Amino acid sequence: MTEELSLDSDVRFIKGVGPGRARLLERLSVRTVRDLLYLFPRRYEDRRELTPLDTLKPGMAAAVLARVVTVERKPTRRPGLSLVRALVTDGKGYGYALWFNRRGLERLLPPGTEASFYGPIEMHGGRLQITNPEVEVVREGEADSLGRIVPVYPATEGLSPLWLRRLLRRLLSVAREELRENLPEAIRHRRSLLDLPVAVEGLHYPLDGDHWRACRRRVAFQELFLLQLGLALRRHQARSGSLSPRLAPLGPRSEAFLASLPFSLTTAQRRVVEEIGADLVLTEPMNRLLQGDVGSGKTVVAVLAMLAAVDGGCQAALMVPTEVLALQHHRRLSRLLEPLGLEVALLRGALSAREREESLLSLREGRVAVAVGTHALIEEHVAFHRLGLVVIDEQHRFGVLQRGALAAKGTSPHVLVMTATPIPRTLTISIYGDLAVSVIDELPPGRRPVVTRRISSRQRPRLMEFIEAEIARCRQIYWVCPLVEESESLDVASAESRHEDLAALLPHRRVGLLHGQMASREKETVLTAFQRGEVDLLVSTTVIEVGVDVPNATVMVIEDAHRFGLSQLHQLRGRVGRGGEESYCLLLGGAATVEGRKRLEALCATQDGFRIAEIDLRLRGPGEVCGVRQHGLTDFRVADLLKDGRLLNEARQEAQALVAADPSLSSASELKRELYALYGERLELAVTG
Ligand code: ADP
Ligand code: MG
Repeated sequence: MTEELSLDSDVRFIKGVGPGRARLLERLSVRTVRDLLYLFPRRYEDRRELTPLDTLKPGMAAAVLARVVTVERKPTRRPGLSLVRALVTDGKGYGYALWFNRRGLERLLPPGTEASFYGPIEMHGGRLQITNPEVEVVREGEADSLGRIVPVYPATEGLSPLWLRRLLRRLLSVAREELRENLPEAIRHRRSLLDLPVAVEGLHYPLDGDHWRACRRRVAFQELFLLQLGLALRRHQARSGSLSPRLAPLGPRSEAFLASLPFSLTTAQRRVVEEIGADLVLTEPMNRLLQGDVGSGKTVVAVLAMLAAVDGGCQAALMVPTEVLALQHHRRLSRLLEPLGLEVALLRGALSAREREESLLSLREGRVAVAVGTHALIEEHVAFHRLGLVVIDEQHRFGVLQRGALAAKGTSPHVLVMTATPIPRTLTISIYGDLAVSVIDELPPGRRPVVTRRISSRQRPRLMEFIEAEIARCRQIYWVCPLVEESESLDVASAESRHEDLAALLPHRRVGLLHGQMASREKETVLTAFQRGEVDLLVSTTVIEVGVDVPNATVMVIEDAHRFGLSQLHQLRGRVGRGGEESYCLLLGGAATVEGRKRLEALCATQDGFRIAEIDLRLRGPGEVCGVRQHGLTDFRVADLLKDGRLLNEARQEAQALVAADPSLSSASELKRELYALYGERLELAVTG
């Protein structure tokens, strides 16, 4: 290579780029030669067929190969507008090419020049003309864009797609060799995959549709395979550490707990309890995802798993995303478990130094059986005596790494993650590797669908009457205030003023307020009062979005509902309809955007969390919905988790087989280097071999 470029070279050092354009490229997330080679076209133009000039028709986009007959710069009356016009011929016919504001172009196209033109054909003054065509001079019978499928790259201000095409064309010829094949031959053979350099080049310059598909498949496989390999390796490393404790499902405490419940488990709950129990008696760590729609009763299942830990002589930790939820779980668990002689600790950000010291000590010495908490659980000084099980509630709110941090507080503890956002199988695999999945596909008996309606501002007086009537029937109301801004303090301000308004409108009713910036004690007081039925209407920000469980609440009012995400709305709606009463979710405010309207329509149309997650995935993409965005694990350039399910499975099988056969990847050093460069840090892979 003439230019001494490696894949990791800064693009700045590529001839013709320099620091200025490197900055512009950075906007396309392109920093290195490798990034650039993997900057694939947004679309393609099929210029394989050249159109003879005598067959042009207005309305078509045509590729033409022709010789310039005359070229002139035409003056115009409008300042700032210049025209260049060329008369061209291909021997069969004549046509005009016209450019706006391409000063100096006439000098590149002196009469006699052969060039290829590509652009829209228009009819002007009875003459066919190709307008603002892309033009490329043919030298020695050759031009990059001649007679082939031509890539169109994403444009960014200051970098034209054409400039990018030329840059990449040249880069492919000088740096393609650097893209070394790194997949083991056997895998390529088994899965009929093209060579990497061939596939990368083909994605820029496909020969035809089939070729493009084969190239895309290879590059997508590569992306999926590397992540799967990372996950498989991580799991292998976790397993080959120490043994997990054997826990004791359905032991005496579980029995006592089940006997104390006012209901019996649903069939689905019993099934998942069994699935989890079967994992917990093994010395290999459980890694299981529990999916169940909002209100399906996941908490009871989690408690049974935690009691299996306690009966097995271990501690259990339950991590939840909000303090409000931590408070609720702590109160419930204490009530349920204290009669069984078990201590439950609460760990949250806002503890006094003394409380904190006490909790931490009892946790370390093993007096506490179950710890409930927020992120505070994974702080450095938190230590357990013998942590046997980690439960993460509402896992989509946490990252992969936070889960790892909690598990790291024990010796290969079992891990149960729970979510009400039922992620499609392809996604769970790609995000968690070979995570086992249990599904609660049944709601407790007697649940009725929540009546979901949009309410216009004209109907507000009627809404207030309705609320009065519900309160008169001893029902309780949630009133969720709009997300004002990204800023939490503004949300709080809007909740405070709404609280004042509603308190004034309902002078004889007890109106409460809950938001994230209240002191913990206050939050606790309000939440407890609401749970005891001592508050009729609770004005709140989205802090109540997940987990809060007050079966007597029957109405959820959501202001400016269109501003919320779809899964979020479904979660909020899930706060009601938890008792046997008819419940309502009322969506206030118009939908300002098309997307907003789509979300509200989807919410009104279905109660099925799985359907909603699917729609949400389509609207927002997997990274957002599953909360892995920030880790970039699913930021693939080519692979599409929603469409490449089959390929993902193939990649996963190969990754697992490879790790099983050669866990140090000593037979695939190139691959290993690539893997560690990409995921070593993010997946906390151990450096071996
Ligand atoms: P989620 O799955 O959303 O976390 P919860 O665990 O909060 O749901 O349960 C929702 C409500 O359903 C709670 O009030 C809980 O006590 C109740 N519940 C759970 N299981 C059953 C059951 N088998 N029969 C009746 N009610 C149940
Ligand atoms: Mg829950």
